[in-house]
Amino acid sequence: MLRAVTRLNRIAMTLAAAVPLEKTPLETFVPPAKPSLVGLSRGEIAHQLGAIGVAPGQRKMRAQQLWHWMYVRGAREFSEMTNVSKEMRAQLAEHFTVDRPEVVAEQISADGTRKWLLRLPSGNDAQKAHEVECVYIPETDRGTLCVSSQVGCTLNCSFCHTGTQRLVRNLTPGEIVGQVMVARDRLNDWVDRETPNGNRLVTNIVMMGMGEPLYNFDAVRDALLIVTDNEGIGISRRRVTLSTSGVVPNIKRTGDEIGVMLAISLHAVRDELRNELVPLNRKYPLKELLQACRDYPGASNARRITFEYVMLKGVNDSLDDARRLVQLLKGIPAKINLIPFNPWPGSKYECSDWDQIEKFSEYVFNAGYSSPVRTPRGRDILAACGQLKSETEKLSVRERDALRAMAMTD
Ligand code: SAH
Ligand code: SF4
Repeated sequence: MLRAVTRLNRIAMTLAAAVPLEKTPLETFVPPAKPSLVGLSRGEIAHQLGAIGVAPGQRKMRAQQLWHWMYVRGAREFSEMTNVSKEMRAQLAEHFTVDRPEVVAEQISADGTRKWLLRLPSGNDAQKAHEVECVYIPETDRGTLCVSSQVGCTLNCSFCHTGTQRLVRNLTPGEIVGQVMVARDRLNDWVDRETPNGNRLVTNIVMMGMGEPLYNFDAVRDALLIVTDNEGIGISRRRVTLSTSGVVPNIKRTGDEIGVMLAISLHAVRDELRNELVPLNRKYPLKELLQACRDYPGASNARRITFEYVMLKGVNDSLDDARRLVQLLKGIPAKINLIPFNPWPGSKYECSDWDQIEKFSEYVFNAGYSSPVRTPRGRDILAACGQLKSETEKLSVRERDALRAMAMTD
């Protein structure tokens, strides 16, 4: 009997260890025959201009003009760029576009949240065009755009809808910047927009859509440097937040190379539970993750790190968890965002009861941390945190089981 139990335990442990941490990225981006200039740095634009025969002395100036038309004015065609000579406009249009992802569907929630399903064209006909989602959340004092960094996600957090998705490709810088441009297009939010106070609608960016941004570091960095460039889209670094499930080696780089605000998807205060909820914890456990937060370049009381904590009934929502959370964050300039769990079809968790969320929040608040409970937005259109998943990338239960079985035999 004992031997049988031990054997079962061993099998259970082997299975737990074999549940895939990461699925392998399957595809790489193939640019279309006529590539878009969106997402290139000024230097890369100048280089492309050189490749179509623009004289060396003109390239820098032309790149600057294009930059202004794309990122300040939101031009969608070269023909709009009236201070560029007609011949040059024709030459540009022959080789390039200023295309962004294509809007396939727009849904507007009862609370004003908007979700766009975006199609990403590919130059490889054999490869189907992928889709990602992007969400705009209007509030009284700001408008936040939730941007995706990957098609699907290579990680498998057990409470996240995106984590159940199959096909994965990293987005290019152009596809990431393109989401901000689509939002400005659809909301009529470019510089020429007539508003009584001239305010922009999209004021904040959160890298909290589909994907793990720190597994697509270079593209996310290049895109955010464009989004925050003050001669272009011009959203301040302090209004851009990158959320990670804890890719420790790239946390410092985020501070050094991008300089945006950091959010950590914490969700559990003990390794045992975090291993289950956020399997990446097995690679980068809490101790290393919190040290990386202590060392985050530029963190201060004025620039706090956000710790996201999804409230799962009976799983991580006890007052003991709250106590441990406060202990763990000692010495880190932190604020805590409590996220009521957003259910999705087939999810195995329930959202904590409201009075439990309040008790948890009160405990954390009394310990000196700001701990707002994030009101779920756009739930009716599956636009809330963790609900994003493009229809065409759905994985059937059978396919999911097959994938797991495959990973276990590796
Ligand atoms: N991959 C990154 C960013 C995208 S997820 C990350 O994990 O941080 C954005 C946030 O939504 C994360 O904190 C994530 O843990 C949370 N989330 C995922 N699924 C959720 C769900 N069903 N309900 C509430 N929050 C969820
Ligand atoms: Fe990926 Fe983030 Fe979802 Fe985890 S929570 S599966 S890292 S998108």
